[in-house]
Amino acid sequence: MTDLAISELLSSLGFEGEGATRALQRLYGEGLTRPGKIRIATTKCEAAKRTLGAAFVRHCHRPACEPVPGESRDPVIVAASHCETCGGSDNRRAVERMLKAMGRVGWRKLLVAGGSPGTRGELERLCADGIALRFVTAETNPNRRTVAPLLDWSDVAAIWASTEISHKATAVLRGPKVLRVPRRGVAALAEAVVARCGISTRNRYTVSASGRSV
Ligand SMILES: [Zn+2]
Repeated sequence: MTDLAISELLSSLGFEGEGATRALQRLYGEGLTRPGKIRIATTKCEAAKRTLGAAFVRHCHRPACEPVPGESRDPVIVAASHCETCGGSDNRRAVERMLKAMGRVGWRKLLVAGGSPGTRGELERLCADGIALRFVTAETNPNRRTVAPLLDWSDVAAIWASTEISHKATAVLRGPKVLRVPRRGVAALAEAVVARCGISTRNRYTVSASGRSV
């Protein structure tokens, strides 16, 4: 039977120092190991991971990654690469914040005009099932007839950076739902949507400093 150092299992999940001690206590409590044991059978590792995942919310130091109000699991601070919110990625962190901000104002539908195939794919991947996304691309042949129904459908519409498509879309994408994102990149788009949701960077840190997360 193969086994693994318990400390190795814990650090692979981001539990270090005091966090590792708390995680170990939880494994003792569940009978998955006991004090004095150094190694754990690999057959028990999945159960250990499930137990720890159900018990702890792992988050990094960034204010945007603090657990949301109502989170029932115990918070434990980990390195950003193990953070459940951002995983160390600026894009993921920004999109998570956008999803929270949109959720707070009750928006579920985002229309995006422009962007590259790569950035659109990244945005889709990071949004996953969080919101509905539609794109205006070169293939959409943007004109009033094709874009107006998409704008009607959306809660918020973003014209992304200075691409060819965004110039064409600008002519037909107008109105209070529409915002312009002057910079390329997923994080820039997400930040612009957050700003439209009424949460400024300044408020974000004020709110976080009072102990609540965005
Ligand atoms: Zn994080």
